[in-house]
Amino acid sequence: MRIGQGYDIHRLAEGNSLVIGGVHFEDSPVGTVAHSDGDVLLHALIDALLGAAGLGDIGDHFPPSDDRYKDADSSDLLREVLDLLTGRSCRIINVDSTLFLEAPKLGSRKAEIRHRVAELIGIPADRVSVKAKTMEKLGSIGAGEALAASVTVLLSEL
Ligand code: MG
Repeated sequence: MRIGQGYDIHRLAEGNSLVIGGVHFEDSPVGTVAHSDGDVLLHALIDALLGAAGLGDIGDHFPPSDDRYKDADSSDLLREVLDLLTGRSCRIINVDSTLFLEAPKLGSRKAEIRHRVAELIGIPADRVSVKAKTMEKLGSIGAGEALAASVTVLLSEL
């Protein structure tokens, strides 16, 4: 067994799109400022997976200086990482995640994110957890200027 953890934060601003865990929030007035699609949950998940496998971090594999990753769909980056894990005979046991954001309120869309993440990584949804918290109006996340995600994964080596 190998455990990994990942964290990501992105600024939020008007005129950008918002995607969390591969789910698009078309009606959000703000979105993430990022070189890629700015999906904090998938970026934290990628770092957790790479960390568990001892394979560096997201910046090592997908440098923001590389124009190939401009506006990249993070689902595609995740697929590349999953291929690396498969090559090392690692499989994902479970994923636990927490989103930190003031708005939008995720409500029932947490379940949608959970199912989308499970689908992307090919494990049952009952092995994926998506939790959400506000920051009680404190700091940049509390002011609605950013959102963040923290992810823990457990891998098994075959
Ligand atoms: Mg990121």
